[in-house]
Amino acid sequence: MTTVEVKVRRVLHFINGKYENSSDDQTFEVKNPATQEVIAVVSEATEEDVKKVSEAARTAFDHGPWRTMSLSDRCDKIRRMAEIILERREEIARLEALDVGKPYSHAFTGEIPRAAHNLKFFADFMEKQGGEVYPMEEAFLNYTRYEPVGVAGLITPWNAPFMLTTWKLGPCLAAGNTAVIKPAEMTPLSVSLLGEIAKEAGIPDGVVNIIHGKGSVVGTAITENKNVDLISFTGSTTTGKAIMKNGANTLKKFSFELGGKAANIIFEDADLDKAIPVSIQAAFLNSGQVCLAGSRILVQRTILDSFIEKFKHAAESLVVGDPQDATTKMGPLVSEEHFNKVKHYLEIAKKEGATLITGGGIPVLAPHLESGYYLEPTVYYHQDHTARICQEEIFGPIVTIIPFDTEEEALAIANDTEYGLNGVIWTENLKRAHRIAHGVRAGTIWVNCWFVRDLRAPFGGFKKSGIGREGGHHSLEFFSEAKNICIALN
Ligand code: ADP
Repeated sequence: MTTVEVKVRRVLHFINGKYENSSDDQTFEVKNPATQEVIAVVSEATEEDVKKVSEAARTAFDHGPWRTMSLSDRCDKIRRMAEIILERREEIARLEALDVGKPYSHAFTGEIPRAAHNLKFFADFMEKQGGEVYPMEEAFLNYTRYEPVGVAGLITPWNAPFMLTTWKLGPCLAAGNTAVIKPAEMTPLSVSLLGEIAKEAGIPDGVVNIIHGKGSVVGTAITENKNVDLISFTGSTTTGKAIMKNGANTLKKFSFELGGKAANIIFEDADLDKAIPVSIQAAFLNSGQVCLAGSRILVQRTILDSFIEKFKHAAESLVVGDPQDATTKMGPLVSEEHFNKVKHYLEIAKKEGATLITGGGIPVLAPHLESGYYLEPTVYYHQDHTARICQEEIFGPIVTIIPFDTEEEALAIANDTEYGLNGVIWTENLKRAHRIAHGVRAGTIWVNCWFVRDLRAPFGGFKKSGIGREGGHHSLEFFSEAKNICIALN
């Protein structure tokens, strides 16, 4: 049952080590998507506040102790942040379930421990890095140093706010940068705690800053600000394009993780006992609000009927309900606006002649959830992979099964998309697994699994799914400037 305290929380900016109101005292409200109750009143930053926060981050970078302190001291403080997150795991998971609407159990067992791991991993990883040495005969010696870039703008989305913010903050801090974090306006609760967590961990004031407000105002102001040197952004492809344009005048460094429309390819020799439950996860985790969702399910025609029957049964068995309940597997969509956008795809599917296999409506739930933004897990079948529901990122609990006959056809369908974030392959044939994994144009390919991440491995997208890679040394390179030092030896 719900154990989260029912109260309206006040969320402030965190600037230079202090929680603060906006300069004009403006605020906006955040609702619980499961009930539409107002759960938070959040300070809404002005352009002046953005100026202030970026100056604080600049001063902390240029004149503070962070950049020059010993690497082990810096990494100890980051590791301490990770420990505090684990100590406060339940509270953070409750907040994440409250404003995102994601099942508490998933936040508690998956995302919040992963958030702590993000910080610890990059602190440990940074300490193990070396540089390169290039001797030029006996005359000169080149060696490299990796130095922090400066002030990082970390702009994060609403689907996994805490986990995705720490995924950027870990390498950003470990490399010695200072940060201006801009969480998504709909889901500021958990990320707002990172200010006090950083302070308790001994991170100097001005190193971790958090500012709230609309992307179009606050996000744009951060992107245009001359004190901000780089932007790490996760969000929609459309917003990524806007950020790139707005950051051009100040020539910022960018890392973008954008949209996806992954093909989940099920060959006739797949182990369906594994493929079905994992494909259900890939379709409906976080109500399908996952950029890595396997939303195009390509099924070899020889097993189409049995796959559809089993997948339908599994989708119908998902427990949809109150995100705070331990048994809930799927919560609501994040907001009214997003709910309407996703719901519109039900009409599009109808017009496009897709066959509804299951779902397509509003689930019947307990009375207190009646005004929540809930949709049933929805599965369509469509022959034509060029239909809008098979091409556009719906970011909701709607997936389409598409048939194919041959490997070549599967690959052609998988690659006929403007996205290239990830792909999933189910087969027991090793050679085919490699062939298809090499053929799919996407940044991550999972064979007989999904959502498994080794933080050393690169993460990012081909095509319109992103620019650059994060993870392991890729993250550290993004958050660092490589310097070459050439010494004459004679
Ligand atoms: P969605 O469209 O699903 O809400 P967005 O990509 O717009 O996702 O949002 C991801 C993050 O980007 C949020 O923190 C949001 O406030 C921010 N954002 C939105 N528009 C802009 C913009 N023009 N410049 C910078 N950040 C933005």
